[in-house]
Amino acid sequence: MRRLFAVMLMFGTVSSQCFGQSASSAGNDSLLGFTGQSSAQERQWEGKYKSIPDPKLLWDYMQRLSARPHHVGSPYDKDNAEWILAQLQSWGWDAKIEQFDVLFPTPKSRLLEMTAPTPFTAKLEEPALAIDPTSNQKSEQLPTYNAYSPDGDVTAPLVFVNYGIPADYEELERLGVSVKGAIVIAKYGHSWRGVKPRVAWEHGAIGCLIYSDPQDDGYFEDKTFPEGPMRPTEGVQRGSVMDFPHSYPGDPLTPGIGATKDAKRLDIKDAKNLAPIPTLPISYGDATPLLKALTGPVAPESWRGSLPITYHVGPGASKVHLAVTFDWKIRPVYDVIGRIQGSSEADEWVVRGNHHDAWVNGAEDPVSGQVSLLEEARALGTIHKQGWQPRRTIIYAAWDGEEPMLLGSTEWAETHAVELQQHGVAYVNTDGNGRGFLYAEGAHSLEALVNGVARDVQDPEAGISVWQRSEDYRIHNAKDAEARQAIRTRPDWKLMPLGSGTDYTVFEHHLGVASLNLGFGGEDKGGIYHSIYDDFYWYTHFSDTDFVYGKALAQTVGLTVMRLADADVLPYRFSNLSDAVNDYLKEVHELLKQKQEKIKEQNRELEDGVYKAINDPRRPKVPPKQEPVPPYVNFAPLQNAADALAKSAEHYNKALTAVMKGNVDPAKLGALNDKLLTSERLLLNPDGLPSRPYYKHMLYAPGLYSGYAPKTVSGIRESIELKDYPLAEHEVPRVAKAVNDEAIFVEQVATELDKMAAGK
Ligand SMILES: [Zn+2]
Repeated sequence: MRRLFAVMLMFGTVSSQCFGQSASSAGNDSLLGFTGQSSAQERQWEGKYKSIPDPKLLWDYMQRLSARPHHVGSPYDKDNAEWILAQLQSWGWDAKIEQFDVLFPTPKSRLLEMTAPTPFTAKLEEPALAIDPTSNQKSEQLPTYNAYSPDGDVTAPLVFVNYGIPADYEELERLGVSVKGAIVIAKYGHSWRGVKPRVAWEHGAIGCLIYSDPQDDGYFEDKTFPEGPMRPTEGVQRGSVMDFPHSYPGDPLTPGIGATKDAKRLDIKDAKNLAPIPTLPISYGDATPLLKALTGPVAPESWRGSLPITYHVGPGASKVHLAVTFDWKIRPVYDVIGRIQGSSEADEWVVRGNHHDAWVNGAEDPVSGQVSLLEEARALGTIHKQGWQPRRTIIYAAWDGEEPMLLGSTEWAETHAVELQQHGVAYVNTDGNGRGFLYAEGAHSLEALVNGVARDVQDPEAGISVWQRSEDYRIHNAKDAEARQAIRTRPDWKLMPLGSGTDYTVFEHHLGVASLNLGFGGEDKGGIYHSIYDDFYWYTHFSDTDFVYGKALAQTVGLTVMRLADADVLPYRFSNLSDAVNDYLKEVHELLKQKQEKIKEQNRELEDGVYKAINDPRRPKVPPKQEPVPPYVNFAPLQNAADALAKSAEHYNKALTAVMKGNVDPAKLGALNDKLLTSERLLLNPDGLPSRPYYKHMLYAPGLYSGYAPKTVSGIRESIELKDYPLAEHEVPRVAKAVNDEAIFVEQVATELDKMAAGK
């Protein structure tokens, strides 16, 4: 669903004081969680596995799956699900389709016009291109719209709000411009799209337009499609604006339970996750006349895009009329679920997924990830026939309904919640793929595992391991010398934390199943995201055209799944988790300090008359208001818990090493693994995060005002960001309790390992 690569820079460079023991598996025969003997066996099977994925087949699968539009409820969506099912079955998987019935509205009518100062009616239409053979499948294409916008008919002045994030509204206030009663126009980017109508509504706006500025994914970057990869004049980004960060993802009518046939459903009016105001996405072709008509202050420099106009904030004399209606139908989603039964620990589940539904043809999103999933399934099926018996049960899922907002994965996981909490070892997600560097987000207990796998997969362009290439990228792009040094001396590179915008959310944030999200990217630009031009023609001209990174992804994910399924002891490493907790603790400390300093300085400048003195009477700015300086927050409980976790994680590493060197009794390990797989669950709090109980993980959450981008220790961090310091103070012990429970658990398991090593 989303573009992810850019965030690697943000999270790859946080320095860390405290390293785990060497987590490297490079040049070391033993894999994490395997004895020497079982490592050798595992490597043999992995060698066989890695030789199987075939770029030619990836090409064929993509051509088939993206041949026609396949959004939720469309004929080809069902057709694809049935085809995927048949493939899994032909490769020896025990597979079936699980159907759910979800609220998925599509447009009945869309109108956007400017009535003053000059009349203009927006086209709201992406033209077919002669050279692009699937772009003319008009009768099957969904119109351009934002799903879960409410019906509405509003006429109002227009205000340009930059990216429409909270900081932009602070700037607007200083410019003396209000959006009360206005329709806002925001650029795509810098937040998840659903944040834009939400923040606009909080400030009193009654309608929201979102457009793609050419600076962000159009001609500013490269030539536009079909000459180049970027968004053409009339190209539009469809997408969901469900307000899931403040409420819940998945079917609006069945929060927390599976949307099965007989499920008890809410009335639509009681659904909590619909967008608050009518919202419509538009092209820069349609946006230009609207923006050009704005008067009022000239937009701040950082707000301006690449259109050949002077960007004004507005409002001015222009009046805009926005009218949208939707059909509010319940539609089926078809999750394809395949299974290979585990041999000795069948009640431990390794789950792997990628969605199959798209906004239109969706060659990049999601098919480029789905085709790797299929090659993994074929390769695992092949070695299974040759005698490979995974210890644990492997479940492969081709999700439907991800684009509207994680419908298929959420409803499936909610339906199987009890089993997942009992049996879930890990969930491994992908969602599209491109050329370049491996990016990896995930639960930090899985960080060492991913690093180990990445060391064992070859990059198809650079001829080095994908681990080394990602490491070098991080070093080169680190923010300063200290960050570079930290990367160079740490054995593992860091996983980015999990935000949202793709199918791992219910697993990690709601159920506490340790999750990963993997993919390659960073080398090719594109501006076809969620448009009719995200198709086979575009992908095979401008992305991973020979599917060598599709093969690398199938190798990377396949090895990850195999190690999770085969390890003698589940391959979690808690010292990596402990490092992450220490990072977050430092970050929230620093965040509060910066807030205190900023407000102190601002108050001083107000008292000294600085804002008054520098004001330009021809372009006046409203000074900020005096604010109370944020109080200190007592982080000590979290610091103590973090120290306890660091200590027990270290103990665990030593104890595990000793056990793996000795003769292990597999019966004892089975019981140990049953216990270990619950370790991520301890990081949940049953009451969830403040004002959003669906999100139960105390360390990772989607940002309230960033959406896809993660917020770690959200209860503390977002309370500070939103200036609710008493709430931050209240949240510290809740986060500390989760970390402390984890520390106690890890210590118990380490003690059990000690006993095993001593032969007791
Ligand atoms: Zn996707």
